[in-house]
Amino acid sequence: MIDLNDDQLLRYSRHILLPEIGIDGQQKLLSSHALVVGVGGLGSPISLYLAASGVGRITLCDHDTVDLTNLQRQIVHNTDSIGQPKVVSAREALARINPEVVVDIIQERVEGVRLEALVSSADVVIDATDNFATRHAVNRACVKFRKPLVSGAGVRFDGQVAVFDLRDETSPCYSCLFPEEGDLEEMRCAVMGVFAPLVGIIGSVQAAEALKLLMGVGQPLAGRLLLLDALSMQWRPVKLSKDPACKVCGVAL
Ligand SMILES: [Zn+2]
Repeated sequence: MIDLNDDQLLRYSRHILLPEIGIDGQQKLLSSHALVVGVGGLGSPISLYLAASGVGRITLCDHDTVDLTNLQRQIVHNTDSIGQPKVVSAREALARINPEVVVDIIQERVEGVRLEALVSSADVVIDATDNFATRHAVNRACVKFRKPLVSGAGVRFDGQVAVFDLRDETSPCYSCLFPEEGDLEEMRCAVMGVFAPLVGIIGSVQAAEALKLLMGVGQPLAGRLLLLDALSMQWRPVKLSKDPACKVCGVAL
């Protein structure tokens, strides 16, 4: 475990004061590696909170560049970063908040063996993408390497968030809930309206769940999907169970 120096004892003092976290929990964060796939509306609060909280190593993946239309909700980026790769812009923002954190950036749509290598090296995987193809690829890799997956999505005023703790063989996976062959309507933020704080709320829940998983604190949001209607500000929990016929996790791997 990493010994905390005087500056770290101050920087993380409000975590250390929490009996559920303490020095032990903070040390766990400092020695952890989080993989964040997508640095947009969800990835912004996720990466900001993970860095501020002292997660020792954060890998950010996103192929895209910052556009003026992103800035209404993608709060890790700013007006000066328009045209920059999102991962570069985000790394600069995270370094300003916490220069101690190592931020690795990958400016591509990760898939295949590259994605598998990233997932296998992470302690927690956070899905902050906006398309089903990447969500399913990330889920498959998390099932294969038995990594906890924190999944979130948000469009218009509707959000959803769930944890699939795939370290547990009885856990459902993302595909149990949304099968790959399903004809779900793809609702991409690129063409849909998005209420700015919606992705902030959902991304913040994802950050909280990732930190809890890394420290082993509390009960993870596992086996439950939370649906948020931000117009009425109502949260609705849906119990999830493993689909024995799931093509990703239901068959012998
Ligand atoms: Zn499954």
